[in-house]
Amino acid sequence: MPELNLILLGPPGSGKGTQGERLQEDFRLPYYATGDILRAAVKEGTEIGNQVKEFMDRGDLVPDDVIIGVIAERLQQEEAADGFILDGFPRTVPQAEALDSKMKELKREMMAAILIDVSEDEVLRRLGGRRTCEQNPGHIYHVEFDPPKQEDVCDIDGGKLLVRDDDKPEVIKNRLAQYKEKTEPLTAYYEERGILNHVDGSESPDEVEEAIHGILATLRREEEEGM
Ligand SMILES: [Zn+2]
Repeated sequence: MPELNLILLGPPGSGKGTQGERLQEDFRLPYYATGDILRAAVKEGTEIGNQVKEFMDRGDLVPDDVIIGVIAERLQQEEAADGFILDGFPRTVPQAEALDSKMKELKREMMAAILIDVSEDEVLRRLGGRRTCEQNPGHIYHVEFDPPKQEDVCDIDGGKLLVRDDDKPEVIKNRLAQYKEKTEPLTAYYEERGILNHVDGSESPDEVEEAIHGILATLRREEEEGM
């Protein structure tokens, strides 16, 4: 069985996290969202985890080689023997190159980078429509997809519904611009290596999931047939 070593790419609002969780369940693969595995390493207090902690405590960005160290530690665990899903790293070409050389060292290979494509308008519609409860930020609604019974009022506790700063159009546009600037060269990098796969992220989560399954089935078949 070829290893399902996967990278998930997509702009904020693309549903990447949802797909990562579904892939994790469907294929029983570990899902490594960068922030989560960094926090886990700190908690476990491994040598590299302690390094991560030092940067985080100082409020500094964790350097690429340290992040790669954390990822490498994960990839060598039994749970990742048949594959893994990376989300949130790499974000830039130098990070992708560094990850590739680490993978080589570990005698492994990326099978696919899956890019969930979503238009800017769709991202604005998805993220811009979110409303968060003032009383409890865990109570989240969407003006279009999941509206409260009464406009701008939380169904659960009657709290006022607000647009979080992160969900304001100018902030979303800024995040998208940053994503585009960094990720476009990254997708070109994986395209050149012949492992980039596009999925139409404007479809429903079920349809996106099905499309990803289709891609992985084809890739597995190709590898098994030695193509
Ligand atoms: Zn509420």
